Amino acid sequence: MPPCVIGADPKTITSLFHIMDQHPLPSPALTGFNITMTAQEKAAMAAFLDLSSDYLTGGYKRTREEYSFNDDLTFTSSLRASVPLCEENPKNATVSPCEEKPENTPVYVKMPPTCDDPTDDSLEAIAAEIASCKRCGLCKTRTNTVPGEGVTKPLVMVIGEGPGEDEDRSGRPFVGRAGQLLDRMLDSKGKIGLSRNTNCYIANTVKCRPPGNRNPQPDEISACVPFLTRQIKTLRPKIILTVGNPSTQTLLDRTEGITKLRGSLTVFRGTLMMDGDFNIPLLPTFHPSAVRREESLKAPVWEDMKTLRRKLCELDAEYAARMADIPL
Ligand code: SF4
Repeated sequence: MPPCVIGADPKTITSLFHIMDQHPLPSPALTGFNITMTAQEKAAMAAFLDLSSDYLTGGYKRTREEYSFNDDLTFTSSLRASVPLCEENPKNATVSPCEEKPENTPVYVKMPPTCDDPTDDSLEAIAAEIASCKRCGLCKTRTNTVPGEGVTKPLVMVIGEGPGEDEDRSGRPFVGRAGQLLDRMLDSKGKIGLSRNTNCYIANTVKCRPPGNRNPQPDEISACVPFLTRQIKTLRPKIILTVGNPSTQTLLDRTEGITKLRGSLTVFRGTLMMDGDFNIPLLPTFHPSAVRREESLKAPVWEDMKTLRRKLCELDAEYAARMADIPL
């Protein structure tokens, strides 16, 4: 097997699988060794590599598709097929960024030094890294990256799924009609009293627009979520408000839909990611786009906003004092 550079990245793991596929054991270089792997051994190796990758890329355990292994030397993985290799091209790489790979071409991938080993975790530095990121296929179709916006010490961090057309054009999150509704939800005529201009930060799970406003795919979320977790770590909001399925399921590592998860305060456990015990209350609610489409969702969203206000009053004395004379 030729030398390769392995970093802590989900796509690097994919690359390792690719190399295994291209150079099944025993290889000519290993003549004399009797090396075979059972499906069980391959599954154990994949689980170990995934766990290592999750730990080193921010401590967040990702939900992955099932791998499929055989006892013979043929390797198949649904992940391999679904993840585009779209890394920056290291010096000794044989593949250019974002280019299609010819069949049977080995891939040597080096971690981008800027993403998962940050030396500067200011919001500006994270945004600069996002601006040049090519870690997933969404880099090919974006007009602008959309890192997020708001105050630097927010009471609430609102997290959606991904930029839409207006956001892609402007580089700002939640600026279309759904964004305007989000702003109204957060303020609720002063009864909730939240705004991106004074006490909120608004971001998305992926920072580039999925074409046609489709939901981001699991591999795109896996590639992008280290940016989000670094933003959370830097901002340290009092509460996270997830809107819609992708952000809720990603941060809670749950598979249930938003209809079931909304309205219940839970905790985003960033223990590994945050370098110690660091848990943040998390409240899921419906995405404002869904509320625009479905009038009946307004009532549960209003209940969720009231839950948000009550929890914030527990957590922040200044906010509680400001809201004391404003009836719900
Ligand atoms: S969506 Fe995220 S990971 Fe993918 S290219 Fe954009 S910034 Fe990079």
